[in-house]
Amino acid sequence: MSNGDSLGRRLGKTVRAALRKVGAGLYHLGLSHRIVNLSPHRIRALLYHSVESSPGSYTAGLNVNVTPATFDLHMDYVRSHYSVSTIETALDGLGGPCPALITFDDGYFSVEKHAVPILEKYELPATVFLIGSAVNGGVVWVNELNHALNRYPHVVNSILPEFKMLAGLSQAEMIFKVQTTFSPADVKRLLRRLADVIPREHDTLQSADPLFSSADGILAMQGRGVHFGFHTQDHFNLQLCDDASLNVQLNAANVAPLLNSNTFAYPFGYYSREAIRKLTQQGYDQLLTVGSGTRSSSALHTGRTELFGTTTADIFAQLEIEEPAIAMLRRAFRFAKQLFRGSALHPVGIPGSSDLSGGISPLPLESDLPETSKPR
Ligand SMILES: [Zn+2]
Repeated sequence: MSNGDSLGRRLGKTVRAALRKVGAGLYHLGLSHRIVNLSPHRIRALLYHSVESSPGSYTAGLNVNVTPATFDLHMDYVRSHYSVSTIETALDGLGGPCPALITFDDGYFSVEKHAVPILEKYELPATVFLIGSAVNGGVVWVNELNHALNRYPHVVNSILPEFKMLAGLSQAEMIFKVQTTFSPADVKRLLRRLADVIPREHDTLQSADPLFSSADGILAMQGRGVHFGFHTQDHFNLQLCDDASLNVQLNAANVAPLLNSNTFAYPFGYYSREAIRKLTQQGYDQLLTVGSGTRSSSALHTGRTELFGTTTADIFAQLEIEEPAIAMLRRAFRFAKQLFRGSALHPVGIPGSSDLSGGISPLPLESDLPETSKPR
């Protein structure tokens, strides 16, 4: 990472922190409804993953969890400020003023157990994006690697000489490195080696709640009004798939009976031109990414905001002040980049839009397409 990158990232974090402070101040002045109503057409798309009281080794440290109490607080806020509808209804402009969407990626069982009852309490619709292999009893590679690193860090270290690019990295950095540089074949090789060296724990998953919802659980949730979209077969980074593995990842045949919406969410928010082409050919009419500002670039895409705030002021500040401001800055930086590119000059010390994500940079592909934020 260059000094420019880390300077840009630090600047991005400072900007975000300042925006959140401003947002929280406006909320405490009692202006939240008035400010929300200033953007009656902007769709606020919320992204969650797991909803557990205390994350287990498969999710702890991935920064994907909100507690049921926090989720309840979020839903109470969302219900009182927005018109929550399904993706299709919101995109058709039929969702009412200040539309909002609630989405969950990955199909964690904790959503079925804790989030769906809260959604029912507030009568809010939501869409869950399913991973084919997870519905069929598998564990997604991100969770498998995370579990190994949480439970057996020394055992994982013992195979790192075979994966030199991962040596010396923290847990989060290692997972990010794999997700942004390992092809599906590389990920499978890493998992095979982990399976060789990690003690078998057949009863760990059986004695506790399952990690992901089963087909039966999903059908029961459908009966309770929950919508389901597709999130690939194995949750690989689509930018690192060759044509054959892309076809496998985008083939929803084995979960087709469980999908009741024509929507797709990219793993980690990463996409490629080829993925877009294949998905539109298959008839998906809405593709969901991670991060704000996406719809300004493509009507087919909707960017989503991950909410972790624990107060209503935090949620308001993120959704209404930070995200719109960052989206605006991204557009301005993209425009400035194009100008510099046109004049063959390179801006020095100007943060790229990814630096404003507050997380880790996306892959340097599809530079003219919207960028993603934190990896999931
Ligand atoms: Zn995911």
